Amino acid sequence: MLETGKGNQYAPQRAEMVEKQLRRRGIENAAVLAAMLAVPRHEFVPPEVRSRAYEDVPLLIGAGQTISQPYIVAAMTAALRLQPTDRALEIGTGLGYQAAVLSLLAKEVFTIERCAELASAASEKLANLAYLNVHVHCGDGTLGLPEFASFDAILVAAAAPAAPQPLLAQLAEGGRMIIPVGDAENQELQLIEKHAGKFSTRNMEGCRFVPLIGHHAWQKPPQR
Ligand code: SAH
Repeated sequence: MLETGKGNQYAPQRAEMVEKQLRRRGIENAAVLAAMLAVPRHEFVPPEVRSRAYEDVPLLIGAGQTISQPYIVAAMTAALRLQPTDRALEIGTGLGYQAAVLSLLAKEVFTIERCAELASAASEKLANLAYLNVHVHCGDGTLGLPEFASFDAILVAAAAPAAPQPLLAQLAEGGRMIIPVGDAENQELQLIEKHAGKFSTRNMEGCRFVPLIGHHAWQKPPQR
């Protein structure tokens, strides 16, 4: 009971976030707005930044990593045009916020985090909050999860020099991938779609993410 009361104290801030940061900036998809209104973002940030969870900024989540600004989470999610029957893959779980949002819109969500500490914290948090259709894996997400492919939607939550080949290969026919592509300083969100075995790419907006580090991205953090 106490727990519920504590969680509810953030409901007005969350509603304001959805209205001011998302709806007024052009996020129109009702299902995405409803998911952002439902997921308790303050549960997915460390206690020391909890009171800032609904601000219009990215926040540090530990291990030198960040949770994206709410608008970016919503814009990337909307770009995927998720259907309730979709299987989605996320690369870069962090503490699990984006995975929780995806889980309300897709049938199943697989998410991969390379940092073991973050992967286990996210897995525990998602289970405690009963996001039961999210599966957290620890490892190099640039390899994807061939044993669970294919995926209708892939969201890459870290910046890459280009879309990793294994992820393109694991995209289903008609599938969508959203990924920040660029250098260490600046990237652009790319929406890649697969039709009749061919890929089409559309550039969306500028953004800045932490680097994707792995076999099919950067081998070590690029110099900023
Ligand atoms: N999606 C998260 C934010 C992720 S920040 C959220 O909603 O809060 C980016 C994450 O990508 C970091 O946690 C980082 O450790 C992870 N990452 C970087 N390279 C990776 C790789 N090759 N495979 C899996 N995770 C990776």
